[in-house]
Amino acid sequence: MNTNALFRPSAPVSLPRNDLSTVIGQTPLIRLHAASEATGCDILGKAEFMNPGGSIKDRTALGLLDDAERRGRIRPGGTLIEGTAGNTGIGLALVGNSRGYRTIIVMPQTQSAEKIAALRMTGAEVRLVPAVPYKDPGHYAHRARALAEEMNAADPGSAWFADQFDNTANRDFHEATTGPEIWEQTGGAVDGFVCATGTGGTLAGVGRALKVRKPGVRIALADPAGSALANYVNHGELKSEGSSISEGIGSSRVTANFDGAPIDLAWNIPDNESVPLLHALLTEEGLCLGGSSGVNIAGAIRLARELGPGHTIVTMLCDSGTRYPRKLFNPSLLREKNIPVPGWLDRAFPAN
Ligand code: PMP
Repeated sequence: MNTNALFRPSAPVSLPRNDLSTVIGQTPLIRLHAASEATGCDILGKAEFMNPGGSIKDRTALGLLDDAERRGRIRPGGTLIEGTAGNTGIGLALVGNSRGYRTIIVMPQTQSAEKIAALRMTGAEVRLVPAVPYKDPGHYAHRARALAEEMNAADPGSAWFADQFDNTANRDFHEATTGPEIWEQTGGAVDGFVCATGTGGTLAGVGRALKVRKPGVRIALADPAGSALANYVNHGELKSEGSSISEGIGSSRVTANFDGAPIDLAWNIPDNESVPLLHALLTEEGLCLGGSSGVNIAGAIRLARELGPGHTIVTMLCDSGTRYPRKLFNPSLLREKNIPVPGWLDRAFPAN
């Protein structure tokens, strides 16, 4: 037998990719079985946790940095600066490392220890600040902007503030990549798209890309408790109630990326609706996901019920649950927040 035949490639050979940025995006679309069966729809999750930095925010980091380089906003060897809940910082630091930049990240100290450690591991300089409202000058985004201004005053062109919330290169990158990927992966059969927003880049960018291709597609906002955006979309007023243990999503203001997003429906999703979905997905479908994914999937189920059986709905699986073991999978914290605790979780982490 000619064994060489076994090893002859049958498909065109894909040459080794040579740069980190080329493995960001093009993530698979996964069928979420329980959610699909419960609603009679196809509910599909885009596996953004498979990006090299572990989250959807690798796309944002790459989109913002590519744009800054094209515009000559950052010089070789310069310093990338961002205020972030963590994931954008991880993406920016990794892409920055691959291109010879330094990175400084300003981040609220309330974010998970695992995310902070992942960021420190990149070699980025991490500055933790108290979590204060956006109108306070001590807010992490203002601190990051001020730091870049200070460095540029001393040495012009030495620093670049990425500004993920109000730099619309974020939304544009999702419009150019994430949206078209979803369109192609569903063969244009997508009827609805739903996700939560932090900066608004994903929802606005994907929403625009899909609406251009199919004006009847329904775009929905799944907003965590404590965020003011669902009320803003539904009643024109920024108003919030409650709080959420999810990270990286929710907003008290309309960012430039969110502004004008084509949103048809919006809901606030409580943690006791979203977090149990994460627990079930892990034990029943093997998917270990973070809090924003739970809010997104809860939103996808609501949109499926709104549209009725037979529709295809896409949402984002933004990052992994391994970034939040002491929050999303911590029985005592969950109980404190009135979130149901499955028996296996109690057995896995008995109270001591
Ligand atoms: N999920 C997670 C885990 C995030 O970190 C973020 C961004 N902070 C989002 C969702 C929201 O994405 P966007 O900023 O594009 O609205």
